[in-house]
Parts: sequence; C-alpha cells; structure tokens
Amino acid sequence: SKKYIATPSRTKEILNKYKFSFKKSLGQNFLVDVNVLENIIKHAGIDEAAGAIEIGPGMGALTEQLAIHSDKVVAFEIDQRLLPILKDTLHDYSNVEVIHQDILEADVETVIRTHFKPDQPIHVVANLPYYITTPILMKLVRDRLPVTSLTVMIQKEVAERMAAKPNSKSYGSLTIAVQYYTEAKVVMTVPKSVFMPQPNVDSSILQLVIREKPPVEVVDEDFFFELVQACFAQRRKTLRNNLTSFFKEQFTKEEITSILDTTGIDGSRRGESLNMEEFALLSNTFYKNK
Ligand code: SAM
Repeated sequence: SKKYIATPSRTKEILNKYKFSFKKSLGQNFLVDVNVLENIIKHAGIDEAAGAIEIGPGMGALTEQLAIHSDKVVAFEIDQRLLPILKDTLHDYSNVEVIHQDILEADVETVIRTHFKPDQPIHVVANLPYYITTPILMKLVRDRLPVTSLTVMIQKEVAERMAAKPNSKSYGSLTIAVQYYTEAKVVMTVPKSVFMPQPNVDSSILQLVIREKPPVEVVDEDFFFELVQACFAQRRKTLRNNLTSFFKEQFTKEEITSILDTTGIDGSRRGESLNMEEFALLSNTFYKNK
C-alpha cells in the first residue's frame, strides 16, 4: 500500500533525505495526518471535475491529496528549497503545477485563466502560513476571483473572528470584512499534534463560500470598512463616542447625534451589537451627510 506524504514516517524520511530545516519565519508547520487532510478536502467541495489552488504546498502533503481528488492543482510556494523536494514527492502526479512565487505578489486571476478550463469550478485549499493568514485571505476575497470557495487551516482564534456572530467577543471589523465577501464557517478544530513541528497555537479549518454579491448595499466600500473599523476602535466605548472620535474633523457631537437619530440606531449601543445591515445603514447615512 502507498505511504502518503502526510504521515510522520514519510515526512521524516523526506526531511532527512533533503536535510531540510523548517523556517519558522515562513510559517512552516507541515501536516502529518491524512484524516485531517481528507476533512479539509471534503469541506472544500473538491471532486474530480474541480480545480484546486493551493497556497504553500510545503513538501506536498495536501497537494498529494488534492491531486488524487481533483482534476488539477496549481500550488504557489515561496520557499525555493522546496521546489526540488516537491518535484520528487509529487513525481507520480501529472496534474500538479507548482509556481515559485509569493502568493501576495501573484496575479491569481491570470493563473486561473491560463491553467484551468473555462467555467471549471475552482476551490482554494490551504494549510496557510500563519504569519500572513489575514493578508492572504483578504487579498483573495477582495480580488473577486472566479473561485467558489476557500477552505483553509488557520489559527483557531482568527477563524473564530472571521466566522463570528454579533455580540460575541470575536466579532469585529475583520468579521465584517470577511463576511461581506463570503459566508464563513468554522468546520473543525484540530489539535497541534497533527503538525510537524507543532505550532504554538490551536488551529481550525475555516470554510469561506464566496457570495455572488455582498449581502448589503453600500455606497462606498472603502468608507464602509473604515467606518466599521472606527466603531470597534475602542470596544468598550459607545457607538456615539467612537464615531465622534472618528469624525472629529467633520462633525460636532450634536451633528453625530442627529445623523444617528435619522438611522434609528441607538448611539449608546456598542459596535459589537450591530449586524452588517446596521453597519451598512450607518455608513450610507454618514456618507450622504459628508
Ligand atoms: N501545505 C503544507 C502542509 O500542509 O504540510 C505546508 C503548509 S505550511 C503551514 C505553509 C507553507 O506556505 C510553507 O510551505 C511555506 O514555505 C509557504 N509559504 C509561506 N509564505 C508564503 C507566501 N507568501 N507565498 C507562498 N507560500 C508561502
């Protein structure tokens, strides 16, 4: 029977063969548990017709499972040292392409257009480097790429913030930023023991399904996200106080109160109690009065 890359023994074998040393600065925590990988793939909606984009293939643990279960895999890896290793470990799979590039610099849309069939459903799947989880996910969802979903292993706390509901301690501007573009769900929490080396933090699998259009209509998206951030600037403060600090160059406290009145949103509430519709109403109303 075949020994998958995602096993402790095979991973150690590859590490020794190439005298590979992990780079903490690149977030290198490799998966050594095939069950966890199968869970990621199941929740990613991967099937034989699908295309997969992977960020950070490492030694190919997840890439191998994607190659088996999907039509084609394109993987972005920043660490030059891993390229010959991947060539070796993924030798048996003809449907994998590794691109040596920083994902934050990549033109993912062009890669999709040139590497996948037209109209092929594409899923982003990754065990992300934790030092840049948020920049990577925000880049991918903001670019409005032709992808169906993103299913990623990330820090448990960040996953909870992205999938949070109002009135919870994880709910904040990151929640709104992510849920404006996607439907977010934590599908599974995994122990540190499935990684080599083990990270310092707990991890979760987060599933983001791209929305066809945002759930609310906002007049100016940049202004909307800035205003949401302002409402969470000091979590213990009321909406009125946070907005007064944010708009101190433009509006007096009385003007803030009167604009708030027209929205029907109580200024003594805290940002964390507002849902996305209320943030949209707030931002559209302040925008009109600017
Ligand atoms: N997918 C492998 C696995 O699950 O075993 C490795 C996951 S490891 C958490 C993260 C991977 O992302 C590493 O291989 C690392 O070199 C790579 N990486 C880090 N920063 C990157 C970036 N900016 N662009 C592309 N890959 C990156």
